[in-house]
Amino acid sequence: MAEPKTRFAPSPTGMLHLGGARTALFNFLFAKYHGGGLLLRIEDTDRSRSTRDFEAALLEDLEWLGLSFDEGPYRQSERGESYEEGIENLTQAGLTYESADQDGRRALYFRPPDRSGTFRDALRGEVPFSRVEDFVIRKSDGTPSYNFAAVVDDANMNISHVIRGEEHLPNTGRQVLLYRALGLAEPGFVHLGVILGPDGKKLSKRHGAASVADYRQEGYLPEALINHLALLGWTHPAGKEDFADLDELVREWDPSRLGASPSTFDIDRLLFFDAR
Ligand code: GLU
Repeated sequence: MAEPKTRFAPSPTGMLHLGGARTALFNFLFAKYHGGGLLLRIEDTDRSRSTRDFEAALLEDLEWLGLSFDEGPYRQSERGESYEEGIENLTQAGLTYESADQDGRRALYFRPPDRSGTFRDALRGEVPFSRVEDFVIRKSDGTPSYNFAAVVDDANMNISHVIRGEEHLPNTGRQVLLYRALGLAEPGFVHLGVILGPDGKKLSKRHGAASVADYRQEGYLPEALINHLALLGWTHPAGKEDFADLDELVREWDPSRLGASPSTFDIDRLLFFDAR
């Protein structure tokens, strides 16, 4: 394996939600397990929705959870030059074109040479994708799109494993087409299963508290939240469910017990861990 390195790459367009915190935690545990590094990248290319206040709140919540990073935070808004080279390469290969979008300004599109293929997911095996349409790599305001910036950064930052929620599966198809067109080595992919609320629907604001800050303000202990998040898509080989803190989890965690099935966030379980 290449030098193990993971990343957590939140967009500062809202508060850190439980799904994002679980992603950060699993990237942290995976990096620790392999004796590798974890970096933090702030994906703030959406100028209208990203704010420094959300970024500061994200950093505070991660610190409260006890999740520390070996590198970063990097901000995509400060890495403009690194995206130009990739755009140049794709353009020289004849794989881009400009087209006016709704606001009348011109965005740059990527025309993938292939529209289907597969990629390997560590939890799901070979994942097929097909009928990928041309997509924007540089928006009309000059900023890179999420899919393009993520590929350029993950490659430049030597990320060995991309661990994120399964809602990104369609993006991964687009991203591997970019890796292939740019001649870049693809990282390993791990798409974590969806987190459900008590009604069996995807966990969201509808279920009440959904952000880390909500639980923090309600006085829950970070160790309790970490314990519950760790069990959303992972089991201990001996079925152990009670982990006093992050250090104990780091000692006991093993990626072979990760799964792609949905898991349920259960407030009673959180209360149980909080009452220890
Ligand atoms: N900024 C994206 C998000 O917050 C990151 C996705 C990824 O990890 O590539 O969903």
